[in-house]
Amino acid sequence: MSKIAIYPGSFDPITNGHIDIIKRSLSLFDKVIIAVDDNPPRKFLFTAKERLKMIKEALNSYTQIEVESFQGLVVNYARVKEASFIIRGLRALSDFEYEFQMYLMNKKLNPEIEIIHLMTSQKYSYLSSSIIKEISRLGGIIKNFVPEGVRKSLQEKFGR
Ligand code: ADP
Repeated sequence: MSKIAIYPGSFDPITNGHIDIIKRSLSLFDKVIIAVDDNPPRKFLFTAKERLKMIKEALNSYTQIEVESFQGLVVNYARVKEASFIIRGLRALSDFEYEFQMYLMNKKLNPEIEIIHLMTSQKYSYLSSSIIKEISRLGGIIKNFVPEGVRKSLQEKFGR
């Protein structure tokens, strides 16, 4: 039976920190589905279509990876995709509380799913989509933190 994992998130936009988690997860699973959150009440800088496009561009050479958007609960989406695992990344202590709560709730909602947390690599531990957007909006250089397509898209958004 093939091991399928979902890596859910906003990816608004994808950063090198996310990509590091994705690449490391490929040695653990046969297929990794990057699931882009498209739940209506949330406010994103990029549309789901734009976020999907940036992820696909950055990871198009990996045949183990699929990229899709989803609405509703991650655990329900995982069932539909026949995935037994959810991957999440962990950075500082500040991530822990939220991730722990989500972990317990998702386990309640679907006890069969296993949720795997991968620690950030030290060199990406300070990276988040929000900080990238903030730096880019204020005219800072982000080329070392995101794929080239994301850099271009942010440049277009902020007109710099
Ligand atoms: P969400 O809104 O679901 O938190 P994000 O796109 O911000 O979506 O993050 C998706 C997942 O990736 C989360 O588990 C987050 O902790 C993790 N993540 C984000 N940036 C990094 C990073 N630099 N290193 C490791 N994990 C990360």
